[in-house]
Amino acid sequence: MLWEIYQQGRIAEARGRADAAAEQSRGVKSALHELERRTDRLALTTMAIWQLMSEKLGVTEAQLEDKIREIDLSDGKLDGRVRVETNTCASCNRKLSKRHTKCMYCGADAGRGIKHL
Ligand SMILES: [Zn+2]
Repeated sequence: MLWEIYQQGRIAEARGRADAAAEQSRGVKSALHELERRTDRLALTTMAIWQLMSEKLGVTEAQLEDKIREIDLSDGKLDGRVRVETNTCASCNRKLSKRHTKCMYCGADAGRGIKHL
């Protein structure tokens, strides 16, 4: 009888952990979906800007490639990435763009809660 009560407690505990893991998984899926949506929107916007520049201003692909290379090299490394200077939130420790006055994750005020790297 005691053994059965003990086992039922353990089963309930395991169910609780499984539910928490499922909830966490849903959160990650939701964040990934949002990231994909933003990336698609960014790609669409970039294509529209490029087509306007090409059609209206006559900018060539070679000029675009040169500008991409120039910006890429602005941090001293040709690595296909743009380095954005960031702050780290002292409250939640996440990285934020320096242009944010408040932490977009936890809402900490930039003046009080965000330290410079
Ligand atoms: Zn924060």
